[in-house]
Parts: sequence; structure tokens; C-alpha cells
Amino acid sequence: MADKPMPAERIDLLDLSREELTRLVADWGEPRFRATQIWRWVYHSLKADPEEMVNLPHTLRERLAQETYVGRLRVVDTITSEDGLTEKVAFATRDGQVIETVLMRYTNRNTVCVSSQIGCAIGCPFCATGQQGFVRNLTAGEISAQVLYYAQKLAERGAHVTNVVMMGMGEPLLNFDAVWKAIRNLNDGEGLALGIRRFTISTVGIVPGIERLAQESSEVGLAVSLHAPDDALRNQLVPINRHYPLEQLLKACRFYVERTGRRVTFEYALVNGVNDSDECAAKTVELLRGLLCHVNLIPVNPVPGCPYEPPPRARILRFQEILVKGKVQTTVRLRRGVEIEAGCGQLRGRVLAQ
Ligand code: SAH
Ligand code: SF4
Repeated sequence: MADKPMPAERIDLLDLSREELTRLVADWGEPRFRATQIWRWVYHSLKADPEEMVNLPHTLRERLAQETYVGRLRVVDTITSEDGLTEKVAFATRDGQVIETVLMRYTNRNTVCVSSQIGCAIGCPFCATGQQGFVRNLTAGEISAQVLYYAQKLAERGAHVTNVVMMGMGEPLLNFDAVWKAIRNLNDGEGLALGIRRFTISTVGIVPGIERLAQESSEVGLAVSLHAPDDALRNQLVPINRHYPLEQLLKACRFYVERTGRRVTFEYALVNGVNDSDECAAKTVELLRGLLCHVNLIPVNPVPGCPYEPPPRARILRFQEILVKGKVQTTVRLRRGVEIEAGCGQLRGRVLAQ
């Protein structure tokens, strides 16, 4: 029937900011407070079916059902770690792509690690997502839906999402607008109300994106994937370094610290025989001297088809010792859920190979 739009033409409510939803509802001739009510149903009560939004007039519920939807993602695979604390889910998007989301449960925290793109154009050679090429950006709705999925699952167990890290597939600062919209929507006090400081963006080092982040918000956490302390080595491990070399990157990080007063987290994936020498550690100390930061050392998670291996434990500890002696705060992070292929992009690879 011509007057019944196809689902593809309907609006994903999760793609709208609160102002956009308010405008839509106003265009329909409804009072503005209806937008707040809808927002609460979607982001606070975690409902998707307009029929359940019982304080809305029947006509509005009908219109919502005809012209909008709440973009839920379909689960295609789930793996849980042996200790039950880490869970990874592969979702199918509406266009049949596969994305991954990870839940990490700690004593006082439930952290959701979300994807920002399908695939990634950067192509870091140790990263499973990087091997899969770039497909497309995720929408704000698809990013939020990953968090809402776990918000709902945790709510069933009387718990809730406490932190969101943009460390799944893709480069969040190359999809800035959608990432930022999702963060603002999830932060909105009428909905999920997740504190702005509970979000962290992990970037490979997109300098204009870091600058924009520092300008937009003084609150969102920044993690930078460093992986090497000089340009020659970083060009190999992180190809975007050719566009944004270390000097520019560090300058942007200093700007972020100045603007926000928050420390930067540097991720350093240790690769046996590649970036794990005493010399690399000493250069890292030099590079980061005087910057408010913290370094996470992560033994690289082997990816099928990639030659990279994690260093032996003694080498990791020696690397850490040099950093700590150089007054660089450092933690060794054993990557959670290695046995569930929680490395970036690995589950998608498995799903696509089936
Ligand atoms: N594109 C962003 C965020 C997604 S990747 C970025 O690169 O920061 C999230 C983190 O996982 C990054 O620090 C990335 O370097 C790291 N990573 C990717 N593959 C890895 C692997 N095989 N072993 C260890 N860390 C890995
Ligand atoms: Fe992309 Fe990050 Fe993977 Fe590099 S590590 S390929 S930037 S997702």
C-alpha cells in the first residue's frame, strides 16, 4: 500500500538528538513534552514498541509505529569467556553487515566496548579489523543500540552499564559526528543518563579529531594507540602516522590535557621483537616526559594470518620497569577474553568465514 512506508524509509529514533525528536513531534502537531516522554521510554525504560508507551495518545503511538522504529540490532553470535566476566556479541545490522560489541564485567563496573565503523580504513597490520578493510560508518543509532542492548541485558540482572569505551571495530574520530551524537544521546539526563566522564574514545591518532574532541567537551576520556615511540617504527605499525606524525600527535594530546585537565591514556601493544626493546621503552619515556598521561601495556593478541606474537612475560615486565623508573605511570593489561577472540574485529572475521 502506498501510504504504508517501507521499513527502510522509516526514521530510526536512535538516530535523532533530543532536539530533533522534539522538532519531529512538534511537526506532527504534538506538544513538546511528548518528545521527553518518548525519550524516556526509549532510553530509560528501554522500550522499542510504541504500543508499550502507554502514556502517549493512541494516535501518536500509531504514527510512531508507521513512521519510526527503534533500531535494535539482531544477535548473530555470542561468546562468553570461561570465567563468565567477558562476553562478546556479533550483531547483524539492517543491511546485513556484522559488527561486534564486548561487555566486560568488573567488581564495580560494567564496561561496554562498542564499534564505531564497519571495518576500518587505517589497516594497522596487527589488527583483525584492519585486515578486513573499510565498509561504512555506523550511524549514531547503531552505536547507541550496542550500549542499549547491554543496558537491557544488565537491567534484567539488576545491574547497569557504567562505562562505554569506543574501542571496538573502527576509528571513532573518523566518524566523529555519529559518535558524538550517540554519546550525547546516551548521556542525556532524561534517558540512560550515563555520565559524560564514563565515555572514552580510543583513537589511532587522528589529530583534527583529537582537537575537536578537546574543544567539544572537557569531559570525555581520550585513549591514544601509540604502539611505537618513533616515527619510523610507528609508520609500520600504525600507517596513519605518515599523515599525523608523533610530533603533531603529541601536540594535540597536550592541547587535550590543557583544555580538559584529564590525563591521556596511551595504549601500547607490545609485539615480540618489534617494539618491546629497552631502547623503545627509553624513547617512550622521553616522548611522554612532562605529559599528564598513563600507559597501558598490552601484549599483542595474535590474529590469524599475522606474524605478530606477544613478548615473553619477563620482557613485558622489563619494559614496564623502564617506564616506571622514568616516572611514566604504567599498567600491564592482560587483554580480557583472549580465548573468546575479544581482540578487535576477530569475532566478525569468524562470523563472516562461516
Ligand atoms: N581505531 C581505534 C579504536 C579501535 S582499536 C584505535 O586504533 O585506537 C582498539 C584498541 O585495540 C587499539 O588500541 C588497538 O591498537 C588495539 N588492538 C587492535 N588489535 C589488537 C591486537 N591484535 N592486539 C592488541 N591490541 C590490539
Ligand atoms: Fe583501525 Fe584501530 Fe584496528 Fe588500526 S587498530 S586498523 S585504527 S581499528
